Amino acid sequence: MEKKETKRRIVLVPVPSQGHVTPMMQLGEALNSKGFSITVVQVQFNLVSSLQQFSGFQFVTLPRSLSMNEVVGHGQIEFLLKLNKTSEASFKVCISQLLLQHGNDIACIIYDEFMYFCGSIAKEFKLPSVIFSTQSATNHVSRCVFSKLDSEKFLIDMEDHEMQEKVVGNLHPLKYKDLLPSGFGPMEPVLKIRREVVNKRTASAVIFNTTSCLESLSVSWLKQELGIEVYALGPLHVTASLLEEDKGCIEWLNKQKPRSVIYISVGTVAKMETKEVLEMAWGLCNSNQPFLWVIRPGSILESDGIEIFPNEVSRVISERGYIVKRAPQIEVLKHSAVGGFWSHCGWNSTLESIVEGVPLICRPFQSEQKINAAYIVSVWEIGIQIQGEVERGKVEGAVKRLILDEAGAGMRERALVLKEKLKASLRSGGSSYNALDGLVSYLNTK
Ligand code: UDP
Repeated sequence: MEKKETKRRIVLVPVPSQGHVTPMMQLGEALNSKGFSITVVQVQFNLVSSLQQFSGFQFVTLPRSLSMNEVVGHGQIEFLLKLNKTSEASFKVCISQLLLQHGNDIACIIYDEFMYFCGSIAKEFKLPSVIFSTQSATNHVSRCVFSKLDSEKFLIDMEDHEMQEKVVGNLHPLKYKDLLPSGFGPMEPVLKIRREVVNKRTASAVIFNTTSCLESLSVSWLKQELGIEVYALGPLHVTASLLEEDKGCIEWLNKQKPRSVIYISVGTVAKMETKEVLEMAWGLCNSNQPFLWVIRPGSILESDGIEIFPNEVSRVISERGYIVKRAPQIEVLKHSAVGGFWSHCGWNSTLESIVEGVPLICRPFQSEQKINAAYIVSVWEIGIQIQGEVERGKVEGAVKRLILDEAGAGMRERALVLKEKLKASLRSGGSSYNALDGLVSYLNTK
């Protein structure tokens, strides 16, 4: 008798943006290494199929449901709301074709929490589904806590400063003010998408790209409150870059002294005011430390890029700085010349920095990044935050403190200890290792 094919297929549905695609592809690699076949369903854009490292995966792209005007003209949240509204029908066709193609052998649909349209299709086909939250566990906790509050009353309560600063339950450093969305524009669309994200539909588990030793309180809270399995199996850690990276900066780093360079990147979405960028530039120049700075095209508001810098700043940059449009971030953070990371504290960047034992200067833009920054500063104690307006004196002081002072050395030491803890959690018997095993066992029973 012919042996039954044991490889089972997992369908992954990422959000089409770098910060979400990377961890989803990393999860795909982890599951592929455990014997599962992977199909990636791309929505709106054909982003990932060209990446050679995933040549063993099947890629399927749904027909575009939104015009480029609808994509470019709206913020992230509006885009996601529209995408969810318009992708269900084509996803249904896609899943029925995949079931035919693979002889019904789909073990599970794993979808990004922001691609919640997948939930109803999984239910319709009676397929198991699992949600993947690519942000921090604490951020998820904050949304869950918020969803249980009377939002109108809460908004009134938040006018009281004492209430804003109050810690949520025993979840230090999560404060009530952190429950409110900030930095996304109008509140209503954000609240709408949050309601969708906390609704688990028929999903049987949620995966988090974190580990207990980073967010023990939040992971325990989620295990207790969600009522479905929680797999904290991170940090997942490989690059899946969607854009070309400037490798020239590695040669430049090779010429710098150990732990002397400050690496600056605010991720793939955040935009900065011209004034703020200029203050940063002056502060970096005045710090006398070498710096590697990612300035994405379009990331400086009301400007085309680095031509905003006055001659004096441009001169210092040519002597002591290196500017790129896109850096190979993991390689950069791994480099022995890098002494600190100025970050917007996106969850991927936060994890990548800890995995390499690099302390941070935090300058968060949005609510989830603010929560990550609070952890970096007051739980792990591996960074400092620039508060209030960005001014050159503060920038200079923060860079010097992190790279040159004893305080910075302490942060680096703690970051290195945390790095080892993360490694241990991924090794056989560690909590993330066991969580991945648990997920694999669950998927094997489907
Ligand atoms: N990234 C990179 N090179 C850059 C800028 C960003 O490789 O020049 C990667 C970075 O390593 C991280 C991701 O882009 O994996 C950004 O994700 P994060 O969650 O930190 O922030 P987001 O872009 O989603 O705000």
